[in-house]
Amino acid sequence: MEISEVVDFLRTYNGPKIRLMEVCGSHTHAIAKHGIRDILSPNIELLSGPGCPVCVTPTAYIDKLIELSLEENTTVATFGDLLRVPGSKESLNEAKGRGGSVEMVYSPMDVLGLAKEHPDKNYVFAAVGFETTAPVYTLLLDNAIALNLTNIRILTALKTMPGAISYLCDNGAAIDGFIAPGHVSAVTGADYFNDLAAKYQIPFAVSGFGDQELVIAIYGLVQMIIKNQPQVKNYYTSVVDAGQNEIITAQLNKYFEPADVVWRGMGVIPGSGLMLKEEYKRFDAGSTGLDEDNKRNKACRCGDILMGKAKPSDCPLFGKVCTPMSPEGACMVSEEGSCFNAYLVRR
Ligand code: SF4
Repeated sequence: MEISEVVDFLRTYNGPKIRLMEVCGSHTHAIAKHGIRDILSPNIELLSGPGCPVCVTPTAYIDKLIELSLEENTTVATFGDLLRVPGSKESLNEAKGRGGSVEMVYSPMDVLGLAKEHPDKNYVFAAVGFETTAPVYTLLLDNAIALNLTNIRILTALKTMPGAISYLCDNGAAIDGFIAPGHVSAVTGADYFNDLAAKYQIPFAVSGFGDQELVIAIYGLVQMIIKNQPQVKNYYTSVVDAGQNEIITAQLNKYFEPADVVWRGMGVIPGSGLMLKEEYKRFDAGSTGLDEDNKRNKACRCGDILMGKAKPSDCPLFGKVCTPMSPEGACMVSEEGSCFNAYLVRR
């Protein structure tokens, strides 16, 4: 089938209403960038789920980073995204303005150089992310051990996808099909989603990030829904295998174990996070018990948006009080956030 025929089908589809969700921040950004929603029939709704790591991080985690940044002799190192995410009262950037020691880095490995250069200082890396990013933190720990650096710790807010997808399905998100996360699938393999597809009778399409790749994956999902085939189909075979990447999985299992963790707006989801194993707890900067999720602005609807229960435009603050320049919620901060991308498209 030609891509033009696929697009025509999706544009003119007039069957029962279909609700699809992507659960990957990079897909959220790619869908907005390529204008994918513009070519879909009004009967195909595309929702953005909890796939942006910064967006699902609870306020207690930000508050803890701020607390650490204000400790004597301690520097918090982080990717840029996290700097502007509001905690319960302020962001890391704001804490930096009143004396917090915060360093923006481009890779966790940058911390190795800092820790070597300043052995009298403690460094805490803000380790957020999913199955995709977690392996990088294991390399940081490998190197810290090899170099005998005792002044590096990580504060983990690592999450894994199946728990969140189960939570959505169990809590009335009414999703007919999922675009499975491409980067995560590269680590876990497409079969990772088989149990979810069978349990909830919902199809999954593993997709790449190009415009045609996304359109083909969406078409595949719609076909599976029409034909009542709740399967997992891999449309990203250039990168994603059926099975997991054994080397990366072994590396993850060496340092981390599953844990019950809080997702912003969703609460505690059993087994949906990764925490350091007991033998590596010396690298933990206090990641357990960060369960509070007190929004600074009570009107923020990030939680509902992450669960597919509201769209960014449903939030009374969207584009008025809350913009990328002055974000009130995490979904407006990252370029993977639904509100950020909705704002971009509207502009
Ligand atoms: Fe939260 Fe801002 Fe999105 Fe509203 S527009 S839900 S305040 S991030």
